[in-house]
Amino acid sequence: MLFSKVLKAGVQTGLRFSSGAARAATVVKSSNAGFSFDLTEQQKEFQELARKFAREEIVPVAADYDKSGEYPFPLIRRAWELGLMNSHIPEDCGGLGLSSFDSCLITEELAYGCTGVQTAIEANSLGQMPVIIAGTDEQKKKYLGRMTEEPLMCAYCVTEPGAGSDVAGIKTRAEKKGDEYIVNGQKMWITNGGKANWYFLLTRTNPDPKCPASKAFTGFIVDVDTPGIQIGRKEMNMGQRCSDTRGITFEDVRIPKENVLIGEGAGFKIAMGAFDKTRPPVAAGAVGLAQRALDEATKYSLERKTFGRFLAEHQAVSFMLAEMAMKVELARLAYQRAAWEVDEGRKNTYYASIAKAYAGDIANQVACDAVQIFGGNGFNSEYPVEKLMRDAKIYQIYEGTAQIQRLIISREHLGRYKQ
Ligand SMILES: Cc1cc2nc3c(=O)[nH]c(=O)nc-3n(C[C@H](O)[C@H](O)[C@H](O)COP(=O)(O)OP(=O)(O)OC[C@H]3O[C@@H](n4cnc5c(N)ncnc54)[C@H](O)[C@@H]3O)c2cc1C
Repeated sequence: MLFSKVLKAGVQTGLRFSSGAARAATVVKSSNAGFSFDLTEQQKEFQELARKFAREEIVPVAADYDKSGEYPFPLIRRAWELGLMNSHIPEDCGGLGLSSFDSCLITEELAYGCTGVQTAIEANSLGQMPVIIAGTDEQKKKYLGRMTEEPLMCAYCVTEPGAGSDVAGIKTRAEKKGDEYIVNGQKMWITNGGKANWYFLLTRTNPDPKCPASKAFTGFIVDVDTPGIQIGRKEMNMGQRCSDTRGITFEDVRIPKENVLIGEGAGFKIAMGAFDKTRPPVAAGAVGLAQRALDEATKYSLERKTFGRFLAEHQAVSFMLAEMAMKVELARLAYQRAAWEVDEGRKNTYYASIAKAYAGDIANQVACDAVQIFGGNGFNSEYPVEKLMRDAKIYQIYEGTAQIQRLIISREHLGRYKQ
């Protein structure tokens, strides 16, 4: 279906694909349980809609947002109107309830346009995931439901100035007083920190250093307008510059006990469990960036001549393109496998970390090779690839660094041999 038609259909049906359409996609998928690389018609439509939106509406303005660092709210609103964000919010909360696989297809396309925009959108999924996996019906309806009614953002507040990889080292404290918890502490590097309507917040509730992580931490949902929350300045980062990253201070912030997820002590598992579901889309974002770098480098190699030949006719360059293509294809399979495992209801920690680590690494390699193929032009901001190289770096850092993914993969791998 053509973009305009899909778009029109989306707008006419109240902006999105109807949940009936999403259900149909699920039905076709589950009847297709054998091994298949074919997408359902609905999946192709979602993919096409996201692709057209990214290429026609995000690509033309991505460099401007990169330069200004302005938050891309008009693009976010548009993505929301088209049903291209929050797609995994369950149907009983007003969402589309799309599968992880389907959401990842959309994420890859959005990232192709600009990963700053995609990260802002993806941070919503990260903030929402603890509520999706651990929230009561009431919590889900209240906090996820409102995001289907208007284009609101949320954020995942875990990292602190003193602890990122070592999540069990966080110091933000929550102390129970009557029916409330009083929170004090500082968070850092929070995506959507200054734009969110509510936060998922991880705190320490058991001060005993001997208490195991599985019992020492508690997760909360926090309304951003709660008194005592101070939002820091927007950080100026190397890449993905339109995404909003901030430090946040909590000073005597009172959170009602109704906003605890599951119960006191359950926070660490919730916070870590969310990553199994959010790493496949992060990997999909890295693949979208790598595909863009490959496309840009390929087009350029077919236009630019040296020594009387197109760049692509020099074997050294065509082999670079071949290596880049291999990496993109394999990283795509990796995120699709990791997402498919989620949809099958299986524990996917191993696959999610493989996909995240591999896609993050190859996005960096492919973007760097694209700059190389562009030569001097690649180093210049008039051409698209230097932005891709800067934007790619964060995929090896956030949502668990490249090293932490290897710790997880080795632990999961060795665990299979020790059973
Ligand atoms: C742009 C951006 C957005 C972010 N968004 C969010 C967000 O929305 N919410 C949130 O909670 N956090 C967010 N983060 C934080 C991010 O998840 C952390 O930066 C990341 O987990 C790494 O933690 P750290 O920065 O403290 O580095 P450290 O943990 O100090 O690590 C430093 C280096 O040491 C390595 N290292 C550490 N421990 C080990 C080990 N045991 N073995 C081997 N190597 C090790 C790391 O891999 C890394 O290379 C964001 C960060 C950035 C930069």
